[in-house]
Amino acid sequence: MTKAIPIRPEIRSLRAYRLEDEEPFPVRAKLDFNESPDDVPEEIRAEVLERLKARRWGHYPAFGAPRLKRAIGAAIGRSPDEIVVGNGSGETILAAVSVFAGGGTLVLASPTFSLYGQIAAIASARVVSVPRTGPAFAVDEARFLAEASSGIPLLCLPNNPTGGVETRAFVEKVLDVAPVVLLDQAYVEFAAPEDDFKALVSFRPNVVIFRTLSKAYAAAGFRIGYAVAPPDLAREIDKAVLPFNVDLAAEELALALLARPEGAKERVARVVKERERVAVALRAAGHAVAPSSANFLFVGPRGGNAARVRRALLERGVLVRDMTDAAAGRLRVTIGTPAENDLFLSALQEVS
Ligand code: PMP
Repeated sequence: MTKAIPIRPEIRSLRAYRLEDEEPFPVRAKLDFNESPDDVPEEIRAEVLERLKARRWGHYPAFGAPRLKRAIGAAIGRSPDEIVVGNGSGETILAAVSVFAGGGTLVLASPTFSLYGQIAAIASARVVSVPRTGPAFAVDEARFLAEASSGIPLLCLPNNPTGGVETRAFVEKVLDVAPVVLLDQAYVEFAAPEDDFKALVSFRPNVVIFRTLSKAYAAAGFRIGYAVAPPDLAREIDKAVLPFNVDLAAEELALALLARPEGAKERVARVVKERERVAVALRAAGHAVAPSSANFLFVGPRGGNAARVRRALLERGVLVRDMTDAAAGRLRVTIGTPAENDLFLSALQEVS
């Protein structure tokens, strides 16, 4: 008789992440994944391909990615020994959660990024969720602090999918009560400068920050992210990622992008301007919009039926995310090009 296959129950009970099969409507505006509306500029693509041609494809990349850590460190004003590189920032979040919260408790402020639930299951961490409330989906600070003192808090700032950022004063309070604090700043480039918490790494021994090149740098197809933490924590997180996790192509693209940050800055400024324009137009039309410091808006369409509105938008070629599971009646809409945003606004006008 064959033995029962030992699938861990927390993995078995995860809903497999699967995109629904949809009838094929021509896509006119893809606003469902918080991707950059602009691709990597042509001259950077050409340069990366040239550099890649000159490298040995049959050899492993340099062990520990020292060039990439130096380049990231230089780009954000931190030391290379404070950087852990990942195959996307998601990988570094998984590593850090495994190191600090594996088998323990991860404290989240919900709704938040759905990947955290999957990461917790992989790391055998129990999740405690403190609900966000009110029109801005703000964290219930007292409750969060109470939970953070007996678990490992993971905060997303700006928060996916709601878009807001907690204050520095609150983050400092969490750092005071929790043994270690994980801060996901995947969207930090779209927020105000004072919402960038990387400077905390200089004087807080217990902070870990995650960042990515997937959003502001438009590099999502290549999988480059990193953690920033005091060197003794970075060293431990690095032990939980597999060697050579960032491949040659991702490394070359990261080096080229980080050498010329002006392009990304310009693209971010355009997205931020569009975000404000779209938010004003939505509110004027009677839809609810949470304040956002990211490259997306959390929208409560008039009438409140997010699933129906998403489907009707899809039929008009506009892809947005139905967030009903996270917050009833809400959609998450990525900010696209001005033309894509106009298309979204006019399609929404038709259907809601
Ligand atoms: N954190 C947040 C909050 C995100 O929204 C995402 C991507 N959607 C990630 C992390 C992961 O990004 P990546 O792995 O592409 O760096």
